[in-house]
Amino acid sequence: MFDLLIIGGGPAAISCGLVLGSAAEKPYMKDKKIGIIAYTKGGDLNAALLNNLFGVPSGTKGKELIKDELERLKTFTSIEQLTAEAITAVAKTDKGYKVSTATNTYETADLVLAIGHHPKIADIKGLEDLVVEHSKSLPGVNKSALKNNNLLVKDGLYAAGLTADGASQSAISVGLGADVAVQLLTKWNDGVFDHHHDK
Ligand SMILES: Cc1cc2nc3c(=O)[nH]c(=O)nc-3n(C[C@H](O)[C@H](O)[C@H](O)COP(=O)(O)OP(=O)(O)OC[C@H]3O[C@@H](n4cnc5c(N)ncnc54)[C@H](O)[C@@H]3O)c2cc1C
Repeated sequence: MFDLLIIGGGPAAISCGLVLGSAAEKPYMKDKKIGIIAYTKGGDLNAALLNNLFGVPSGTKGKELIKDELERLKTFTSIEQLTAEAITAVAKTDKGYKVSTATNTYETADLVLAIGHHPKIADIKGLEDLVVEHSKSLPGVNKSALKNNNLLVKDGLYAAGLTADGASQSAISVGLGADVAVQLLTKWNDGVFDHHHDK
């Protein structure tokens, strides 16, 4: 049983993992079991050439950035990188959520979905009723998001990045992933606001 599963291998999911991984020494984080399914196939950044992303040198290929950031995430050993495969179903349970892939099933108390804005997210069993039309897509482009209130889809289920109806700029997804991480830190800190800074 995980305390948290993060789903996705793009900027939103990785950013969420980096913030939580960096906060591992906080007392309330000590017993937290956190996993990420960093599936990257079809991710939007794979096709990008970045000249406008804060902190990233111009000319960086999105695909290389993802590879490097996933390596960086590995340095935070409190975040377990699980088999990188597509999730096919999400089901509510008494204790949280059950997430299925073609070969594995995971149980988790909280769940972050950062799986992009492809209309195919509506094909994931259990999400059908949560999917809405993406409101920040270019005219004539059909994209999807999960209906959410300040990134909370429903109890224990969060959306980040494009999935949360964020506009398609990497910096926005990075920020929304970090926002979900801060919300989780606060939740685990008994509702008292918290974030994580290193000095
Ligand atoms: C051609 C192109 C050029 C771009 N250029 C720029 C640019 O110059 N500057 C800029 O800032 N932004 C650019 N962007 C936008 C940028 O790529 C996105 O804003 C960013 O990637 C969104 O991050 P995300 O994590 O929300 O979604 P994504 O990067 O799409 O990540 C979603 C992740 O979820 C995974 N996933 C999907 N379905 C499942 C599933 N069923 N189970 C598990 N995982 C799943 C995917 O594999 C992917 O890893 C560009 C996008 C494109 C397409």
